Amino acid sequence: MSAPRLEIDLDKVHHNAQTLVKRLAARGISVTGVTKSSLGCPAIATALLRAGVRALGDSRIENIEAMRDAQVAAPMTLIRSPMLSQAERVVVHTDISFNTELDVIRELSSAAQKAKRMHGVVLMVELGDLREGIMPGELESTVRQMIHLPNILLKGIGTNLACRCGVSPDTNNMAELSALADSIETSFGSILSIVSGGNSANLEWALSGADTGRINDLRLGESLLLGCEPLHRQPIDGLHTDAITLVAEVIESKLKPSQPRGEPGQNAFGETPSITNRGHITQTILAIGYQDIDPSGLQAPVGIRFLGASSDHLVVESDHCLPIGSEISFQLNYSALVRAMTSPFIAKVMKGQGHHGHMSDSYGKL
Ligand SMILES: *Cc1c(COP(=O)(O)O)cnc(C)c1O
Repeated sequence: MSAPRLEIDLDKVHHNAQTLVKRLAARGISVTGVTKSSLGCPAIATALLRAGVRALGDSRIENIEAMRDAQVAAPMTLIRSPMLSQAERVVVHTDISFNTELDVIRELSSAAQKAKRMHGVVLMVELGDLREGIMPGELESTVRQMIHLPNILLKGIGTNLACRCGVSPDTNNMAELSALADSIETSFGSILSIVSGGNSANLEWALSGADTGRINDLRLGESLLLGCEPLHRQPIDGLHTDAITLVAEVIESKLKPSQPRGEPGQNAFGETPSITNRGHITQTILAIGYQDIDPSGLQAPVGIRFLGASSDHLVVESDHCLPIGSEISFQLNYSALVRAMTSPFIAKVMKGQGHHGHMSDSYGKL
């Protein structure tokens, strides 16, 4: 089989999604499955839909178009503010987009009129993490200015936390979002069908038994694919953390000194690594590097220790010399996963059926 590759177990992804869909349904919350880390991979999207996610969300219009081309049938949400230059593609290929700027919503309105389509808008509100969002005090006037735009429907409000500054979703900021939903409806009537509380970082709050108020949607990516929550990067009870693994191939394995020889300067990435002399060690090279992955996001198996990396080489220490051509599997964190998924040099290989039809252990190519 070709290497390097990502091995994606669709049955495990399905299990993770179904488990969270059920737990959140008991709290009155439905799930938007976020596909951006898999480049809108149709097989993963389909596994998520079979598991009961209500809609799919992606930050890139290209990924949504790829899923549409592959006949993935689901409501599609663009979860990053559309670029003005992409308004026409957005109204044609998505049902809803997240928005924070009136200029963009006006452009969506004229594109939607031209395309003879209705376009749904979720207004994102800034609640402390200082990434995207309308300031809470400006929400009502924004609604007033967009609500009568032709071919635009206000579908809901939402927020995003824990991404830029690591601010945790909690009872206070979630109650604030609920109160904003109530106050918009006091002024404009019952118009908000979606109150989207956040991402995988919201799970601890959502499943804690706290009052979920008006929040009826979470957008989940990392937790479905990697089985862990992003606030403390702990595994979530009952979920698979090995649904996706990275396999790389050994191209060199030799006994070498642990300490470099010669005048020290910067390496290819501007670092000056400090290395202590431990005598000779077994140094093994895998054919993968910064160009394909974030090496700091890889978790090596027992007996393999990370030493360093350059664009095309991952250098590890192993207990013994490894056969040339042998393979090593790694667990990945989110940042390594995103890079690996987007590298054209890494094959994506699917296992299982995402719980539909008969189970299969054979690997099929993406
Ligand atoms: C990426 C993203 C998500 C999903 O985040 P996870 O931590 O992967 O669950 C949700 N909402 C927005 C706006 C995003 O950009």
